[in-house]
Amino acid sequence: MLLHLEGVAARYGQFQALRDVSLSVERGETLAVVGSNGAGKTTLMRVISGALAASEGMVRLDGADTAGMGAHRMNAAGVAMVPEGRRLFRSLTVEDNLRIGAYAGRKGPWNLPRIYQLFPELVKRRHNRGMDLSGGEQQMVAIGRALMSNPQLLAMDEISLGLAPIVVNQIYRALPAIAAEGMGILIVEQDVNRGLSVAARFCCLMEGRVSLSGPAAGVDRKALTDAYFGVSA
Ligand code: ATP
Repeated sequence: MLLHLEGVAARYGQFQALRDVSLSVERGETLAVVGSNGAGKTTLMRVISGALAASEGMVRLDGADTAGMGAHRMNAAGVAMVPEGRRLFRSLTVEDNLRIGAYAGRKGPWNLPRIYQLFPELVKRRHNRGMDLSGGEQQMVAIGRALMSNPQLLAMDEISLGLAPIVVNQIYRALPAIAAEGMGILIVEQDVNRGLSVAARFCCLMEGRVSLSGPAAGVDRKALTDAYFGVSA
């Protein structure tokens, strides 16, 4: 198993944002994590990336306990994040933002030409600065930057947030080519249909707990609505 969480809890001071979360992602598999505002999705991403330590439970990467590793070592071990809000270096060019992703020096299939092949829209923008890009272009750079580290696990936080549907389609069209390289993908989405459309399995969070999980295909919509909102629709 590439990523395995067992009984994970996380806190912000007194506030418990995650409790008893167990999930796993295999190589070559896409897991969608869905849930409403404040359900704990970003907190889960922060725990997986090493930015926030779990207060209970275990996070294993490739079978090894990651406790105490922190974000920098998790990245070197092959966990790459596409953070909510994209967080590009605004004064650096597209190409420099992409190159930064490769600083850990991990070997693999992803390099600048492959990123430009994946997102041809970026070719003509390669010398533009982060601040001059549209939201969709920024999101492509953020995904490209994460891929440049040649991760084993790519974790993406709400990549459709704030983007026009046509741009979201453009970005989602690139996901199968990424998955085809065999890494594990964890995709956080508020938009359940988007998430389920690219994932083999899903995990729904509500108030910091896993309220429902299972195969994405043929999911019981009523059960998922209940697990998402916590009430019968
Ligand atoms: P969103 O879709 O709004 O990003 P989310 O599912 O990602 O929501 P989180 O951001 O993980 O949810 O937040 C989970 C809970 O933790 C929320 O109640 C939130 O208010 C709280 N929370 C998040 N960050 C902090 C923080 N730094 N300090 C205190 N509480 C926090």
